[in-house]
Amino acid sequence: MSNTIFHWVDNGIFEGTSGATAPVTNPATGQVTGQVALASVEDARAVIDDAAAAFPEWRDTSLAKRTQVLFNFRELLNARKGELAEIITSEHGKVVSDALGEVSRGLEVVEFACGIPHLLKGGFTENASTKVDVYSIRQPLGPVAIISPFNFPAMVPMWFFPIAIATGNTVVLKPSEKDPSASLWLAQLWAEAGLPDGVFNVLQGDKTAVDELLTNPKIKSVSFVGSTPIAQYVYATGTAAGKRVQALGGAKNHAVILPDADLDLAADAMVNAGFGSAGERCMAISAAVAVGPIADDLVAKIAERTTGLKIGDGTKDSDMGPLVTKAHRDKVASYIDAGENDGAKVVVDGRTVQADGGAEGFWLGPTLLDNVTPDMSVYTDEIFGPVLSVLRVETYDQALELINTNPYGNGTAIFTNDGGAARRFQNEVEVGMVGINVPIPVPMAYYSFGGWKASLFGDSHAHGTEGVNFFTRAKAITSRWLDPSHGGINLGFPQNG
Ligand code: NAD
Repeated sequence: MSNTIFHWVDNGIFEGTSGATAPVTNPATGQVTGQVALASVEDARAVIDDAAAAFPEWRDTSLAKRTQVLFNFRELLNARKGELAEIITSEHGKVVSDALGEVSRGLEVVEFACGIPHLLKGGFTENASTKVDVYSIRQPLGPVAIISPFNFPAMVPMWFFPIAIATGNTVVLKPSEKDPSASLWLAQLWAEAGLPDGVFNVLQGDKTAVDELLTNPKIKSVSFVGSTPIAQYVYATGTAAGKRVQALGGAKNHAVILPDADLDLAADAMVNAGFGSAGERCMAISAAVAVGPIADDLVAKIAERTTGLKIGDGTKDSDMGPLVTKAHRDKVASYIDAGENDGAKVVVDGRTVQADGGAEGFWLGPTLLDNVTPDMSVYTDEIFGPVLSVLRVETYDQALELINTNPYGNGTAIFTNDGGAARRFQNEVEVGMVGINVPIPVPMAYYSFGGWKASLFGDSHAHGTEGVNFFTRAKAITSRWLDPSHGGINLGFPQNG
């Protein structure tokens, strides 16, 4: 079969035996460009077995050698990131500059992981008790699974695998079946960087592959990113099987615009954060909460900027590309219909967009809805498309209550010139990542990325020191050397002295 996107095992393509496939499309043309293999349970076990076989040697590989491979990978990725960006655009649809941004944010995690010798240093206490020393080390878990969503086919896996590999684990990555090619490109790059066979593996597939990863005893941890219902399922199933699980879920991100905000800055930010990547970002702003009398001005400023956006093929000079699949495009459009029927005002209507792209492309233009209320499905549901809802409230407290009663808690932002109000917001808001005059507050690699409430199941965020801790187990060692007077027989509990 032409252009089948297979699995990756032992630094080479693995075709598996299932024979099942799913189509992969270019969203800007609507054309099927390949078929992705869908693993059977046997295929999944073969990939997991490979990762398990490679673990002992990689675990025992010195930090110096491991970091050398990471530095090689960093150099190769930086030199060739344009290739990866084009692959992302061809299957996801986001514009190439945005895809490059995604790769750059992933690269930051690789760079963070290059410092792993420092991050893995343990503690040492000399003479904790007489002639007794105590020290701590962190050791890798074993083969670990990463299950990623369609919207960041390179960055989200890179939140996890650089740190997992640097800390001595072996990896099975299960990418989204909607845009699977980036994973193979990254696997090839690892091979070129000198990563030994079996350390980084790719398992293509759907629920069958995921279920095997969640229950196979050889897999020691699961890092999942995707929608909330699946995140919940992954967390429940993986932890029931005794695994360490971090499962990042969906989002409904609010921006609060206070009356004293710079409205031009806020309007620019709403357009960028609402419509960038066609709203298919877990940190996209989908609800702009206008506080007090500024709502009319704000809506006018957002509308003016929105109507100027160029929608089209991501390889052309477009601001925004298509949605990922036709089904998703139609679902998002149906939310606009519902919002209109529920009484929201459609200020800018993306359903009638004229896009610079294929006639069969999955087009939906940026859409601005005003007078949205909390009972409308356009507000209650995660839409994951280029739809920005404006809600009008009278006070800061009402804005805060909207956010804190929302089931999601991934990202949020406040726009204000009042430092006291901003400080109060960062303290009171029940959300994991907060921006102050910054609409998409994605933390740097040396901080951790993660939401609260239904946006994350588990207690570990991605990357930063939380990532290092997630991919390692702590061990504390108490040792006594060269002490002939060991105290003789004493059945009492050890006490320090
Ligand atoms: P999704 O939940 O449909 O898929 C995510 C992964 O789960 C994919 O690899 C998919 O193959 C697998 N999967 C799908 N259905 C499954 C099932 N029934 N059983 C087992 N596995 C299954 O998510 P998506 O549509 O690919 O991505 C968009 C979602 O991801 C949005 O909800 C978005 O908010 C979320 N997301 C969250 C973050 C975050 O950091 N919190 C980041 C990116 C995306």
